[in-house]
Amino acid sequence: MIKGVCSTTLKNKPFLIIPHPFNDELFSSWLTRVAYAHHFHPQTFINLFFGIKNRGLFKNNVDAHLSDQMIRNIENMVHNKINIFKLTLRSFSGILREDDIIDSPSIFLCKLRFCPHCLKENIPYFKYQWKLAFTTVCIKHRCFLQDVCPNCKTPLNIFKMYNNTLSFSYCSQCGFDLKKSPTKNIHSKFKTSMSAMDIFHQGLYQGYIQLGDSIIYLFCFMDVVTQLSKLILSKRNFAFLHTHPLFLLLNSAIKKTIKSSQPIHIQLNIVENFALFGLILYLFENYPNNFAKFVSMNHLTHWDMIRDLRHISFWYETLVNSISPKYVAFGNMVTNEEIKHARHYLLSLGKLENKANLTQLFGNINFFNKYQLHR
Ligand SMILES: [Zn+2]
Ligand SMILES: [Zn+2]
Repeated sequence: MIKGVCSTTLKNKPFLIIPHPFNDELFSSWLTRVAYAHHFHPQTFINLFFGIKNRGLFKNNVDAHLSDQMIRNIENMVHNKINIFKLTLRSFSGILREDDIIDSPSIFLCKLRFCPHCLKENIPYFKYQWKLAFTTVCIKHRCFLQDVCPNCKTPLNIFKMYNNTLSFSYCSQCGFDLKKSPTKNIHSKFKTSMSAMDIFHQGLYQGYIQLGDSIIYLFCFMDVVTQLSKLILSKRNFAFLHTHPLFLLLNSAIKKTIKSSQPIHIQLNIVENFALFGLILYLFENYPNNFAKFVSMNHLTHWDMIRDLRHISFWYETLVNSISPKYVAFGNMVTNEEIKHARHYLLSLGKLENKANLTQLFGNINFFNKYQLHR
């Protein structure tokens, strides 16, 4: 491959050869294949077509960071025949996150993963799902994905080439053929947990998931997934989950010190992420009973369930409230007037105006002591 050429003649010029992207191909994978088709090393290709000043834009998670301006440039360079935005992970903005992915790329994105068997099929390429933290296994080949070279343990960098000769299906550090990586198959007892991953993928495609009768935007659900990850691993609420077979796979993760400053999935390996995401979706099976058991067996309060959420969706607030009602911390938020009306209301229903009935009406347990009520 041609490397180390300095010239400005190709800058912003249309590409000469334009391979068609696969349906599920990641932008960086496609761009690397474009470079190979031109017989350029990918880094040289970027320097020549976009200018050395812009090469920094193609580092650090380019699939989530590619700017609108650069997307327009590239679309011009391919004669507007390819929707470049759709190849980037920014196309999940408003689906995976309410905001643009560019603003919070670490939330559910991970190091690039791969399935050795998929790389063997036809032309090797990298799929966009392999950058998403919840994609931990290849459903087609029923094996765990991998995110480092099995020989030298280096993470993948598909813009680099070993010896300037081997393509991205070889490790850029040691030249190991990634297609020959030994694979870890999914044990039969975890096979149903693989369908959990499908729920996330379907959610990406549809923009929502369905739980019981509720239709929930995926980004609302993902906020709750983050909250539950913290409750399980940082706050160590294992009751109800500890008997599930997946919990065994979390053995080493529960011994780790989980930092609150980083997304939890970044601190776990692929098998541990498989277990964690599988267990979280298990909480939404038999909806809402499993979730209710998790909350009550771990003695979690309304506040525990919502404390780290920036925005609480109506669906989640209603769900949590039905299991662990909101405690009103300041008794004087309910006025004497309200108490008076509530007592009349209870009498009109033929009910006792006692503490239990008022608590049910107001959702509060403590402050009725000051009122003289029938027992
Ligand atoms: Zn595969
Ligand atoms: Zn290697």
